[in-house]
Amino acid sequence: MRNSLAEQRPVVALIGTGGTIASIAEAETQLSDYTVSNAVESLITAVPALGSIAAFEFEQVCNIESHSIDDALLLRIAHRVNAWLAMDHVAAVVITHGTDTLEETAYFLNLVIKSDKPVVVVGAMRPASALSADGPLNLFHAVSVAVCPESAGKGVLVVMNDRVIAARYATKGHTTNVDAFVIPEQGCLGVVSGRDVQYFNAPLRRHTIRSEFRLDPGQAALPPVDILYDYQGAGTHLFQAALQAGVRGIVLAGTGNGSLSPAALAGARLAVGQGVAFVRASRVGQGSVRPSQRDAPLGVVAAQSLNPQKARVLLRLALLQPRDRDALQLLFDEY
Ligand code: ASP
Repeated sequence: MRNSLAEQRPVVALIGTGGTIASIAEAETQLSDYTVSNAVESLITAVPALGSIAAFEFEQVCNIESHSIDDALLLRIAHRVNAWLAMDHVAAVVITHGTDTLEETAYFLNLVIKSDKPVVVVGAMRPASALSADGPLNLFHAVSVAVCPESAGKGVLVVMNDRVIAARYATKGHTTNVDAFVIPEQGCLGVVSGRDVQYFNAPLRRHTIRSEFRLDPGQAALPPVDILYDYQGAGTHLFQAALQAGVRGIVLAGTGNGSLSPAALAGARLAVGQGVAFVRASRVGQGSVRPSQRDAPLGVVAAQSLNPQKARVLLRLALLQPRDRDALQLLFDEY
């Protein structure tokens, strides 16, 4: 039963999935080779000030490093977030997550969550046991953002290192620095300092209730899509292997402006010839791969400003129903 103080505070559902934010190393100076060990409740206990801004309900969906999250877990996270958001007494959802694949989960949720309530994904670059661990303040900031009325209707948000970033644009850009998330072209939506949240921008791309993607309650699988990396002297064998494995789509992490090496061009022809979707993204990390006049005749799609891992997220959702090349390009233009 909640006490009267708790009843005045917004209820935040805190969903734990693991990651460095929930990890412990043997020494406070050990910043790698740590182990995910802390339950999501204990992350809150470690930040007593959180009790003054929200009341919490908890769910531990998993407690693993984010590079181990598979389709079943991704779908489970999405189903559970939708379930929490559908409860009237829940004001917002905060998800603790490893930073390695945080952007993939955040963008997936951004497309399939059916609520305008705030959803915030947060992680940390240093384990909870580290000197100057960044997790506690990141978590405090995530909750501050989650209970901020202005956060509603902005799609899924990523909060790291004092910034509020749209899931559509957040990407991990540093292997170890606490300032790991970069927003190369679009900038952050706002900043957070303690309880003070200040927004400067709003995301314009379709998300959450304005996204057409919807998971069936029983949705247990997603279409297989591979990302293939292009480089000088690439061969066609990886494209052949992907097609033999039965992928429904291939995202090329292409050179430069989504250029295709001779092998990637052959791979695209092979894929399209078999009815497999082929999306050109870039391995560069900044800028858009805009549609080219050569795309439609070849049957390939330009990823626009989605990096390869996010282009894969969108393509998998797009392939849940039959779409031709032009319909796919339209999605990449709009989302
Ligand atoms: N290895 C971690 C992960 O689970 C990295 C992190 O959380 O910062 O993604």
